[in-house]
Amino acid sequence: MKRIERYDRALRSFTKKVLHLPKSTATSFLYTKTRDGGLGLPCIFEKVMKFLRGQLRKLQTSSDLWIIALAQTQLVQKMQRRIEKFKDRNWQQEFSRTWQGHGADSFKANPVANFWLPGQTKFFKGRVYNQAVQLRTQLFPTRRTQYNTDPATNMCRHGCPSQETIQHVLQSCPFFQGARIKRHDKVVNSLAEYVQKNKFKFLKETYLTKGTQRLKPDLIIVKEEVAFVVDVTVAYDHPEVFKRAAEEKVQRKYSVLTPSDIPGLGEVKAVEVIPIVLGAGGGWRRANSKLDKVLKLPRSFAKINIIRTIKESITMLRLHSSLQRRNSRNGNTNNTQSHINSMNGMNVGPASTNAASVNSGA
Ligand SMILES: [Zn+2]
Repeated sequence: MKRIERYDRALRSFTKKVLHLPKSTATSFLYTKTRDGGLGLPCIFEKVMKFLRGQLRKLQTSSDLWIIALAQTQLVQKMQRRIEKFKDRNWQQEFSRTWQGHGADSFKANPVANFWLPGQTKFFKGRVYNQAVQLRTQLFPTRRTQYNTDPATNMCRHGCPSQETIQHVLQSCPFFQGARIKRHDKVVNSLAEYVQKNKFKFLKETYLTKGTQRLKPDLIIVKEEVAFVVDVTVAYDHPEVFKRAAEEKVQRKYSVLTPSDIPGLGEVKAVEVIPIVLGAGGGWRRANSKLDKVLKLPRSFAKINIIRTIKESITMLRLHSSLQRRNSRNGNTNNTQSHINSMNGMNVGPASTNAASVNSGA
């Protein structure tokens, strides 16, 4: 048994080496099934123990006298004691309770969001795959890590009053406001292209007036006299954040719309709001499938947009870390607002104070 555990250890460290993951990468992440958002590495020890447990049960329930005698031998008794000590482990649950597994529950039983994890797809090559895995495990290098809890050294390098976490860079750092809008718009554009190609009546980013409110959903699509109000949000990967993004940011906001508010799309008898929520780390809210059914979207739609969103997030994180190097060479760690504006090609406000973990970028 000791030898098997040694094999497992070797397999784990080989996997981490190949994927450029730190030694501290959670074992539970490696062993979580890919459909639940892990790497799906086999644990040989676990497999052997489960096999032996099954065999032992067969021995114990046999009515064959020879087998009963065998079950009472010292060797089998010893094995039985060892197997009794073995406990099944829920790797996904263990991972979701670690620092690295923050928000991991949003990938649980979500094969669409995890389709690229087995690493056999053409979508990610080499380094990008490794970085996508780092994004999933909070291991993409930023200043605030699992071990750096010191505010003297872990605050955002752009002078934001926030710790420099992956979440901060991707969802609220004002430096990346432009990139966030781009990340969001790519999803909207791909949906608009599909809708146009399939000859649905639709409006894109059109202002609607409702009382004193001005609303601008990403898309309004009419099918069989129902107007589907679709709004896309790229949120931080966490079940609670996904829920909030869908319910508060989209559902509640647009539920005020009635058929008479929808202009120029022919007869409309009902309005239905459909939030589309993606995660910055490649999450895909299961309820997004509601839109699949309405528009008969191909399976590839989710996959393409998941890959695209992960790539955009990685680009943001890479840019973020390259700026550290440039700034430290210039002896300047405080970026000026004008630098930020020139990067985004637009004006941006100060960092949003409401944590802004839900950010549609629009
Ligand atoms: Zn920042």
